[in-house]
Amino acid sequence: KAKEEGKGRWKLFESAMDAAFRDKQLLKADLRNAVEARELRVVYQPIIALETMRIASCEALCRWDHPSLGPVSPAIFIPLAEEMGIISQISVFVLETATAECKKWPEPISVSVNLSAKDFRSPDMVDKVRAVLDQSGLASDRLEIEVTETALLDDQVQTSRTIEAIKAIGVRIALDDFGTGYSSLSYLHKLPLDKVKIDRSFLHDIARNQRTLELVRSIVGLSRALGLEITIEGVETFEQLKVLVREVQPDMVQGFLYGAALSASGIRTMSSTVWPLAENVSLSQRKSA
Ligand code: C2E
Ligand code: MG
Ligand code: MG
Ligand code: MG
Repeated sequence: KAKEEGKGRWKLFESAMDAAFRDKQLLKADLRNAVEARELRVVYQPIIALETMRIASCEALCRWDHPSLGPVSPAIFIPLAEEMGIISQISVFVLETATAECKKWPEPISVSVNLSAKDFRSPDMVDKVRAVLDQSGLASDRLEIEVTETALLDDQVQTSRTIEAIKAIGVRIALDDFGTGYSSLSYLHKLPLDKVKIDRSFLHDIARNQRTLELVRSIVGLSRALGLEITIEGVETFEQLKVLVREVQPDMVQGFLYGAALSASGIRTMSSTVWPLAENVSLSQRKSA
């Protein structure tokens, strides 16, 4: 009897697995079509410089609105695209779109694009970066490439080579999600980085936990000593901002406090906004041309 029951459960598990597998195959087919039809979109999340409290830069983030499922998270479709071998098509699409839009924003605003591990292993990525800059006419110092530690783990020799070559064009390199990998610190001096983006997981309790604050402060101090710029990701509250301004002093902050990612024209509209440092500043005081 117990054996029967076990068998039954296994069957159930099997069919659930089948269903999951089928769903994944369907999603992959839809993704392939969406990429070919250029149905993906790019949105931009503002990155604020603490010195000026204005937008200094934006992060380009890819969006996929599935016709029946609605928005699918990049955390789902980017790994799928990597598995399918079509990630470089997405990367080039985002690079093309982001550089063309950035060219239309006021001069000082730059844009950053996330590349995936596979992009860094492909030797022609550098040519593609060069091509999108030519095509858009964007100055190379207004483009930044974000690389995660997992990308670096992959094939360190080829990845470093690609990073060096991209940097040689004048494009800046940021290490994304810093502090979540295994050997974060070793990359800081091994790679020719320009910027470190400290992962948002450190932000959760930074206003309440002295140890978290000390950790972030040390990372920032170390990065600064190495000549790197620092962005802190995931800033959601004025309470967090206050602690950062007083005790950490990163160069830039990014997070829902300044909004989620928005359209390219939304960025243009926000480009002259001076953001408040505290909650009790009225909207009229916020705006300045
Ligand atoms: P990421 O590069 O670390 O991007 C930041 C993610 O954090 C974005 O999620 C953004 O919406 C979210 N975020 C920003 N501020 C806050 C905040 O204050 N609180 C919280 N909880 N979240 C915040 P998104 O757009 O869902 O992207 C997730 C990840 O997918 C990205 O992480 C990146 O790794 C990947 N991704 C997105 N677009 C692309 C792309 O075009 N190419 C590649 N290769 N990866 C991409
Ligand atoms: Mg990123
Ligand atoms: Mg990040
Ligand atoms: Mg991330």
